[in-house]
Amino acid sequence: MIYHVKELQFDARVSGPDPRFARLLLEQFGGANGELKAAMQYFTQAFTCRKPYPDKYDMLMDIAMEEFSHLEIVGATITMLLSGVNGELKNATEDADLRNLVQANKQKEHIAHTSAHFLVHSGGGPMVTDSMGNPWNGFFVNANGDLTVDLRSNIAAESRAKITYEYLMQFTDDPHVKESLGFLMTREIAHMNMFTAALADIRPNFPPGILQGDPRATHTYFNLSDGHDVRGPWNQGQGPWPQGQEWTYVENPVQQVRATQGQKRQPVTGGERSPDELKRMSKELAEMRAKQIKTAVPTSGEQSWSDYPNPDKPEPAGLRR
Ligand code: MN
Ligand code: MN
Repeated sequence: MIYHVKELQFDARVSGPDPRFARLLLEQFGGANGELKAAMQYFTQAFTCRKPYPDKYDMLMDIAMEEFSHLEIVGATITMLLSGVNGELKNATEDADLRNLVQANKQKEHIAHTSAHFLVHSGGGPMVTDSMGNPWNGFFVNANGDLTVDLRSNIAAESRAKITYEYLMQFTDDPHVKESLGFLMTREIAHMNMFTAALADIRPNFPPGILQGDPRATHTYFNLSDGHDVRGPWNQGQGPWPQGQEWTYVENPVQQVRATQGQKRQPVTGGERSPDELKRMSKELAEMRAKQIKTAVPTSGEQSWSDYPNPDKPEPAGLRR
């Protein structure tokens, strides 16, 4: 259940109306990297996470609710930055001619040119669009039912939200608005660290899923561009593997493809790993993960999402609700 408290998480204020910045700020309301996307992403991911990882479920739901709180701060700020617009529109019924109002008011004339949708669509409040008026879309939400995949998506989402706030802060001089954006940006940094810590807490967490990669291709770097080639820790020396395993740099990929008959005759390079060993690892991991999920989630019969104490059945000691 969700419960609303009529105060903002952060005491958001504005120094005065600024419809131009209100429009830019819509990016964080209904944009691809905005607060609604973050809230819906963590909320959606939480469903499949709940039984196998109750600890991470708690975190996902807490952060989802915080993102809804950020959405509320952004919506409140947009509305304050548009203050006057809504009231003037309501006046129009008495005045009958909105065009006169628009012409009479320099500020509204400006809105009519730059952000007409605030006048003719939302009536002075936020809209569920980005700053260009593109509607919010459920495809912004990444939820793949594998927590290591989802947490990586979340680290990426927080990075994008952080940089969007940083860009936005360059387009307002209002110290109150800057203060709110600074808080929102800082919370995204905090979330990034939470998701990173949660990912590190799942072991193993790489590669995502169960299946190990084909050892003939996992350590290979293909030099697929002509010109100045650069070598670095992403294509030479010890890679992110146990000691003795390293990157294999394929200088001439065309030659390599022909010589290996399209990889079919490619031997394992970059250190000893047998396909049988990797198959065994995949199988072990599959059994471990399947067991985690199966022991947590009933596969048939009656189910309930919430657990209420059953007076006929004594509760196990130490169970906290
Ligand atoms: Mn946020
Ligand atoms: Mn966040």
